[in-house]
Amino acid sequence: MMFLPTSKKEVEALGWDYIDVILFSGDAYVDHPAFGTAIIARVLEAEGYRVAVVPQPNWRDDLRDFRKLGAPRLFFGVTAGAMDSMVNHYTAAKRLRSDDAYTPEGRPGARPDRAVTVYSRILKQLFPEVPVVIGGIEASLRRERHYDYWDDRMHAPILEESGADYLVAGMGEKAVVKIASALSRGEDLPERILFGEPLTEAELDAVYDLPFTKLPHPRYKGKRIPAYDMIKFSITTHRGCFGGCSFCAITAHQGRTIQSRSASSIIREVESLTRHPEFRGTITDLGAPTANMYRMGGRDKSLCEKCVRTSCLFPNMCRNLQHDHTSLLELYEKVLKVPGVKHVYIGSGIRYDLFLDVNGFISEDGRRYFEQLVTKHTSGRLKVAPEHTEDHVLKAMAKPSFKLFERLRVEFDEVCRRHGLNYQLVPYFISSHPGCTMRDMQALSRKAALHGLYMDQVQDFTPTPMTVSTQMFASGRDPRTGEPLFVERDIAGKQKQKSFFFKKR
Ligand code: SF4
Repeated sequence: MMFLPTSKKEVEALGWDYIDVILFSGDAYVDHPAFGTAIIARVLEAEGYRVAVVPQPNWRDDLRDFRKLGAPRLFFGVTAGAMDSMVNHYTAAKRLRSDDAYTPEGRPGARPDRAVTVYSRILKQLFPEVPVVIGGIEASLRRERHYDYWDDRMHAPILEESGADYLVAGMGEKAVVKIASALSRGEDLPERILFGEPLTEAELDAVYDLPFTKLPHPRYKGKRIPAYDMIKFSITTHRGCFGGCSFCAITAHQGRTIQSRSASSIIREVESLTRHPEFRGTITDLGAPTANMYRMGGRDKSLCEKCVRTSCLFPNMCRNLQHDHTSLLELYEKVLKVPGVKHVYIGSGIRYDLFLDVNGFISEDGRRYFEQLVTKHTSGRLKVAPEHTEDHVLKAMAKPSFKLFERLRVEFDEVCRRHGLNYQLVPYFISSHPGCTMRDMQALSRKAALHGLYMDQVQDFTPTPMTVSTQMFASGRDPRTGEPLFVERDIAGKQKQKSFFFKKR
């Protein structure tokens, strides 16, 4: 099994006398397409470049991890990993977390705060002549001047702060190849920020067909990497989300255009998963940022190109949106037929306003989708995210009215009754979102439609860079309307909002 090299010894074993690109990451090296570093490494390798990966370099010693492979021929790539390092390190209450899911055994402290800036500055200091290319969610969402919650102040664009040369924004396969090819021809690029364009189906399939081992690098000697455990039996069906929730960074990073893989590419990946030594027949998630957007999007693409809406669903579903679930249902059936597959669960979130309105199902295929989802693809608990109950808070979040959740509960109970299932509907909520007061949390806790449900899923709002909700948090206004709105900034107040959720109903 062939991993990309991570040490001098491994480079020598390959007989390489030079390396084209060295990637530094704040995460452990897991050769799986759920990890951006693994994708970029494999994409560059497929283009004929020699690539090495340095996971979680020590930035506190004599910097030997940064020197050990010398200078690459083309560039250093730098990413904080799958999460912004500040979100990875601190809770919404700004407390240091005690674990890190992207590190062996979940150990904390394997990457610095603001990892992109720290790694880039070190590399620029050691190898001033070698270009540094930054990417991943931390670089991508800090590409412009932005509000930083942890410092409670505005920060300069990350290219300025880090001293890096180029920034790849969004999903970076094409952009990183463009940079490598320009630098290998000895050319500079005119732009310093390169945006990922959506990939075509064939291009996306080609990415997922690359020879990922789907395993953590052997250097970890079988140690548990919690994030890998979570995703090792999951499959990505598409990228992007057109939901446009105000608090979500996915649209800013992956874009709102849905890029779907072909069914045959997904089936190939499922077949290879069945050969994984630990696979016992259960796919834990056949999903994406929003699981039920597979193959959806605008019917008339020319309208979408001119469109300025941030959501295709809020405040109402766009008439140009093709929101049919037939392809997804067919995909679920095909995956279930793969020999060795016993269960296919959908662990990713769904948007129920794609198939439901307050009067019930929008379409027959929506009804079929929900019934199949509940009866065949739920492991006993269907997680959904109304996020709040109060309409003015939901409006700030760009989420549909709570009436829709009430309808969902009716339909869920009906499906369970008909099929004799004792399943649970588990709603997820956010406290302290801009616009949300203690009184709103009190109203949430008293909502009759939530009685009898399993209620422990509430997240304290974290203002991550570049979201609409963060603009609200920083300015105290809704940027879409200019209207002022209440913002809970006090940590004790935030904790009080969250704890209210658990008060006895
Ligand atoms: S035109 Fe409609 S479907 Fe297309 S991007 Fe705009 S809101 Fe979405």
